[in-house]
Amino acid sequence: MSGAGFIPYGRQDISEEDIAAVVDVLRSDFLTQGPQVPAFEAAIAEATRAAHAVAVNSATSALHVACLALGLKPGGLVWTAPNTFVASANVARLCGAEVDFVDIRDSDYCMDPDALEAKLAQAERKPDILIPVHFAGQSADMKRIGAIAKAHDIRVIEDASHCIGGRYDGQPIGACPHSDICVFSFHPVKIITTAEGGLATTQDKPLADLMGLYRSHGVTRDPDLMARKHAEPWEYDQVALGLNYRMTEMQAALGVTQAARLDDFIAHRHKMARRYDAALADLPLILPWQNPDSHSALHLYPILIDTDKTNRTRREVFDHMRAANIGVNVHYQPVHTQPYYLSLGFRPGDFPVSEWVYARALSIPLYHGLTEAMQDRVIAALGDALR
Ligand SMILES: *Cc1c(COP(=O)(O)O)cnc(C)c1O
Repeated sequence: MSGAGFIPYGRQDISEEDIAAVVDVLRSDFLTQGPQVPAFEAAIAEATRAAHAVAVNSATSALHVACLALGLKPGGLVWTAPNTFVASANVARLCGAEVDFVDIRDSDYCMDPDALEAKLAQAERKPDILIPVHFAGQSADMKRIGAIAKAHDIRVIEDASHCIGGRYDGQPIGACPHSDICVFSFHPVKIITTAEGGLATTQDKPLADLMGLYRSHGVTRDPDLMARKHAEPWEYDQVALGLNYRMTEMQAALGVTQAARLDDFIAHRHKMARRYDAALADLPLILPWQNPDSHSALHLYPILIDTDKTNRTRREVFDHMRAANIGVNVHYQPVHTQPYYLSLGFRPGDFPVSEWVYARALSIPLYHGLTEAMQDRVIAALGDALR
């Protein structure tokens, strides 16, 4: 494939300003626990209209501290969607809790509120926490999911790993009108990056304080949170059992300069997605539906091979694209079909919509550095693959 460089399905976009910001930190007094983490938290809180933002070293860590802050205990129960990365379910297991799944809708590929209601009606035990996942950058139906959770006294964590910069029902994702906590990822394939990194937003100060404690050993010097009211000036209090999930100053500085470009990143993704919508409309594909309530962050452009209209298999299309040096990917192998979850008793067939989508799914390149010429190569290769 000489002359045709590799096009990944997603990648970071790093500017000279990003590099300078990280280098400045390396020359400064603080590599961790300095001013950059609070600055990044303030930037994301402002962008999402959340009262509080807690930055950590990954979205997995953010989901974990969110579960801990909501009081998830061994023997507790979390329900999430099968169409996600394994971390959405694993964090419950890390708290010693049980996991179950609610299948997705075939429109937005997110947790189905009807399936949620049906499962709750039959459940012997209600979950303590629901973790809906905003697949591909588009919010799940949070108005309904939030209302159902409220009626059943269930707490809600949004896994918005795909979604920084997205909007739902007129508000930024992260404003939490229908949830307790909302979690973002800053892995390099996501919308903005801190290399590794994650963040939890909430409107609830006690929850933010607890997540801050769990992020850093359960240790505090905040007089409001300390157990000893007359501590000596050198004393800190460990008031909970926590972890070290701190984000570094280099990561947070990168996050600040990346966050300044968030609107540009989202606008480019929308422009390129509209080009895909037009160019792929006549191929035997099911293109990603856009919910009119949502302005997706468009982390992914997930197409489904329409097996009613073509004899080409997803595997054939995948192989053709990879041979053309185009890094297509598949999101997601349903979590309940992973060997670890099979070992807990889940079975293929348990969540048929997620499995139906997975059998057809292919994520094609969408990222800030994707040019129209590169995208035309993807479109041409897909046309060849399906002809
Ligand atoms: C990327 C991702 C995560 C994990 O994010 P990390 O920052 O890599 O820990 C969790 N959930 C979903 C849906 C993701 O896409």
